[in-house]
Amino acid sequence: MTPNLALLPSSSWTRLLLDWFAVNARRLPWRDRKGDAYAVWISEIMLQQTTVAAVVPYFERWMASFPNVHALADASLDDVLVHWAGLGYYARARNIKRAADLIVSKYDGRLPSSVEELLTLPGIGRYTAGAIASIAYDVDAPVVDGNVARVLSRLYGLDGDIDSPLVRADLWRLSEGAIPQGRAGDFNQSMMELGALVCSPASPACPICPLQMPCAAHASGDPTALPVRLRKTHWVQVVDCAALLEVERRILLIRRPDSGVWGGLWELPRATLAEGETRKACASRACSERAGLVATIGDLFGEIRHTVMNRRITLAGFAASADHEALKLLARRTDVVLAKPSELADLALASPQRALLNTRLDQGLFA
Ligand code: SF4
Repeated sequence: MTPNLALLPSSSWTRLLLDWFAVNARRLPWRDRKGDAYAVWISEIMLQQTTVAAVVPYFERWMASFPNVHALADASLDDVLVHWAGLGYYARARNIKRAADLIVSKYDGRLPSSVEELLTLPGIGRYTAGAIASIAYDVDAPVVDGNVARVLSRLYGLDGDIDSPLVRADLWRLSEGAIPQGRAGDFNQSMMELGALVCSPASPACPICPLQMPCAAHASGDPTALPVRLRKTHWVQVVDCAALLEVERRILLIRRPDSGVWGGLWELPRATLAEGETRKACASRACSERAGLVATIGDLFGEIRHTVMNRRITLAGFAASADHEALKLLARRTDVVLAKPSELADLALASPQRALLNTRLDQGLFA
């Protein structure tokens, strides 16, 4: 359904929304740094796929270590990944680092203000470019994220598939058309805030919503019927087996190649269970494939369940042993480290790997 703007001119609701935002906006650390494009950029990337509550401590630690683009460009990728570890989707951190290097070399450390230039930077898509341009520079640029899409689809009664190109185009057009001139930063944030605090996916709080009067979904009596999403997630079950090898009270960790989901992160030698393979055989294969080691696989010491995109993963950890001299020799490789438990906090480990290691340490490894 193409929205009828004549029936619901944006001027009839944007003022209501801005007034609500002026009173109800949450105090967030990146909002305390008004006009700081760097803070907007980092917070917006961190907030992708991650809740505000989870992001706040990460953002604060990040800003303490990398207070500006120059500090970030000067940092090592390892250090950047350590600060990102636990947020997931590590390509985001690698892109941030690449973009910081470019911003320093091309823009003297200042993020550009135009959407077109921002879009040339690694990891910055249409949404993030619009957010930086509008929030930091008050450029009249629209944003459409999950919250904005939900609010607009309900407000205008868009009943087409929200993931379809046609409806996506309508959403961007509506978002752009609704911006009160010169107020894009507040307007975009108010839309996101309403989606986060009031117009939630499962239980929209219509009685306290400033848009209740003009809202088509509220008038229909069933606001949760929108947005319509036809695509369903097809979950894939995966079992990964990891081997914990130790020598002289140190744990063998291997760094993953730079690309991929956990690119650049440290982990126990790990492999994905093949059809017909036993878990112990899989852990043994992990040692030979990742470390070139012949290992004896012992008992299962822990299992961690987590999801990455459409994969539901069980990470199974096995105690393992191998020739000590071979392990020490292996540690000469730049992508291998024999880490003391006290050093783990300074290494970039994905959350499931850290949780698995903590399980073992809690059981009294080296005790
Ligand atoms: Fe969402 Fe209800 Fe507000 Fe409509 S009235 S925008 S459905 S919270």
